[in-house]
Amino acid sequence: MTEPTTTTIWYPSDLGQRADGSPLYGYHHPDTAQVVVTGTEKQDGQQPAMALLGWLEPADSHHATPTASLLVQRAGAELRFSMQGQPCRGEAYSLEADLFSRHAGLLESSLLQDCSVIVCGCGSVGSLAALDLARSGVGRFLLIDPDLLAIENLCRHQCGLADVGRRKVAAVADRIRQINPRAQVQSHALPLEQLDPAVVASFAGGHTLMLACADSRRADRHAARLAAALHLPFLAIGLWERAFAGEIFYSHPGTPMPCYGCAFDGLSEGLTARPEPARFYSNETELEKLNFQPGIAIDISFVTQIGLKLAIDLLNLSNPQHVPRLLGHLSQFTLVCNSNDPRLGGERAEIFSHPLQVTTSVAVSYGPHRPPCRWSE
Ligand SMILES: [Zn+2]
Repeated sequence: MTEPTTTTIWYPSDLGQRADGSPLYGYHHPDTAQVVVTGTEKQDGQQPAMALLGWLEPADSHHATPTASLLVQRAGAELRFSMQGQPCRGEAYSLEADLFSRHAGLLESSLLQDCSVIVCGCGSVGSLAALDLARSGVGRFLLIDPDLLAIENLCRHQCGLADVGRRKVAAVADRIRQINPRAQVQSHALPLEQLDPAVVASFAGGHTLMLACADSRRADRHAARLAAALHLPFLAIGLWERAFAGEIFYSHPGTPMPCYGCAFDGLSEGLTARPEPARFYSNETELEKLNFQPGIAIDISFVTQIGLKLAIDLLNLSNPQHVPRLLGHLSQFTLVCNSNDPRLGGERAEIFSHPLQVTTSVAVSYGPHRPPCRWSE
């Protein structure tokens, strides 16, 4: 997009069908002379805040409109646009046709619109996962995380300074809607363990993926158990200490395969040890509990992105047109190495032969659950 000389008003292609006198909400960027009308309803909690831009009205209206605002007037079947009394160029957009047009031939975003993801944990992994899945076209999200966004999260979270002090689920929900305003987002600021399983069950319908990206294996285990009970495909993405490496585990109910519990009862300790969140006390005040796990965004993102390719494959299990990116190539439990330098990874770094190694050979066998691994107890 190059900078125009007259103000351009981007507007939803069905704007002409809205009621006379409707308010127009969206964003104004005076420095580039661009206005994006998002709709005729304000979405609360949106960051950055959505502004009231002006009004939609018939050409002969005497509606008192401040001269500073956007005016959209009907002229027959056409719409005319002006801002502060100056005529503007209108450019219609259609979310359905335009939003995912760059996916053509690569990803069936129209099918993904009906897919759902339960995101357990909206930290550095979960926020990136949620937003990249929204960018892929996933249309329904259930976000679960009890925490508020803190300053020290910003260096590796998808949300920013304006979101500090907000619930992570609310901040991420807003970001999803900024990518796809049609996305349906439910959020719960609770640990998954405290959320009524009936809430998850009522959300899960059609193609739903349980995505576990909490900061502990205990929480991921809980998500896996719930996924098994609801017969949902399951994917866990977790980081090892200092994010020198990460792990990705998946299972899906269509094919007999070991569950998360089987996997981590059956694997050697060296492969399964993953740190529980270490807590330390800032300035020795107990009020200031900080969840402290070092790790930088570029390492966390690399592992997460590989997991998300699997997420897309798992959501498309019953879509014969889909070309799987990783499913069938990676084993059920994949280790991803950012660095095999012991200064970052300690002794365990030695299990990797080179940086950026993605394992394809770690075998998962049935543990005490045995097929069909429903975790029904
Ligand atoms: Zn099992």
